[in-house]
Amino acid sequence: MDAEIRFPLRLASDGPHALSFIVDRAGRDLLCHVHGGDAHVGSVALSEWRDGRVHTRCLSAEGHREEAIARHAAHTLCAAARCNVACVAGIHFDAISPAEIEAISAAAYSLARQAAGRLRDARLFTELKSSGGTYDRIVSRRAELGDEFEQLFRMPMAAALEMHREAIERQREQRFGGKVGIFAPLYLSNACTNDCVYCGFRRSSSYERSRLSIGEAVREADALHSRGIRAIDLVTGEIPADPFVDYVCEATEAILSETGITRVHLNLGSLSGDQYRRLRQAGAVGYHLYQETYDPEAYLRTHRSGGKREMASRLEAPRRAAEAGFTYVGLGVLLGLADLKDDVTGLAAHATILQEEVPGLQVGFSLPRVQTMDADPAYSPVRPVSDEDFVRSMLFLRLAHPSAHLTLTTREAPAIRDLSLTLGVSKLSAGVSTAPGGYVSTAGNEETGARAQFDVADERSVDEIAALVSEAGLTPVFD
Ligand code: SF4
Repeated sequence: MDAEIRFPLRLASDGPHALSFIVDRAGRDLLCHVHGGDAHVGSVALSEWRDGRVHTRCLSAEGHREEAIARHAAHTLCAAARCNVACVAGIHFDAISPAEIEAISAAAYSLARQAAGRLRDARLFTELKSSGGTYDRIVSRRAELGDEFEQLFRMPMAAALEMHREAIERQREQRFGGKVGIFAPLYLSNACTNDCVYCGFRRSSSYERSRLSIGEAVREADALHSRGIRAIDLVTGEIPADPFVDYVCEATEAILSETGITRVHLNLGSLSGDQYRRLRQAGAVGYHLYQETYDPEAYLRTHRSGGKREMASRLEAPRRAAEAGFTYVGLGVLLGLADLKDDVTGLAAHATILQEEVPGLQVGFSLPRVQTMDADPAYSPVRPVSDEDFVRSMLFLRLAHPSAHLTLTTREAPAIRDLSLTLGVSKLSAGVSTAPGGYVSTAGNEETGARAQFDVADERSVDEIAALVSEAGLTPVFD
């Protein structure tokens, strides 16, 4: 990924009707030229970035028809770079057919999109690294944690566990009273506006999207309640639109008032402060928002489109949720996307910064690893994480943040989940389905056929997980 742009940025199409597409700086603004064949000035478009929107005007020389190309290029570059853009288009080839004109236009649009992608990435990098932002603070804080992390990773795993066993047990007793919370996710919808390469819900994946009605959501919650669950995480893809937030508010209120579920956390992605406030008022108490990776290049490589591509905004989202009144905020990284040390120490640093910004906030961690069903076709992790390194990472977080909840989901196989109890894990999911409607269907009703987000590796029931916790000398709690 090349986030730095050397101006002028020169792109070209090929073939008998090749176009040149050049973008150059004009101070803080941009000038763009689109030419092919007998170059000239045919149409000129000016797009202004004003009030958070693109405003475009266009002029054409008499008898020239490049307006659509000039308008599209100026508009697209302006939206990507968020500055004013002037575009001149002048294309002339003798004796060309309507089909060839169409192909030339398509090539011009394609070049504009390529240039816009480069400009957008450059802007995102600049915003991210702008002085004093959360990213800078995370990078500087995580550097302080590097030695501790490396020391843990130099030790054989068994020795590291033995060395810290007593401290973990003591802290768990002091901070959590020896309790392990058991919960389940409830998927309301598998629609999403983002395109994360590792996820089964990603926008570019073609399957029929489903969304539970309020009645269906209540029935799902009832099915979980009948299995002993009292605490749920409501999960959806990221849809930052007010009507969708209203729907989740309604589902939350209905579940809390009509079922035996007593605690609702949410996992809906990055939203506005006002949307978080409405969700909090609906009765949800916790919010989970995973950064996925703290490596900007890996972040842009894996989050291909949608609002989630704005890494700087996502870094600020946990604070927005906390300031909106959520008393618990769960953070996480998806292991396998980037360098393990940078991501795990970045996560610990982010939590510290968040707690400094919002005193009294309870934080939690989750460390999902990329799973096969996270994408279709399957996504292969760039930096696969072994079981041993996964366990060491959990141990590192436990020691770095003794008061934070540590959650282990059913993405992990039973052997790792069993071992996790010695690592100070304080929350375990159980009896999980990751598809909307999955609990009612597994209770014996007709299969929903809805797309799941990932394959569940630990299929043990709620009762079996509760027994496992008790056998470890801990107390399973459900609310
Ligand atoms: S990871 Fe979340 S935001 Fe990304 S595609 Fe999946 S559901 Fe959407």
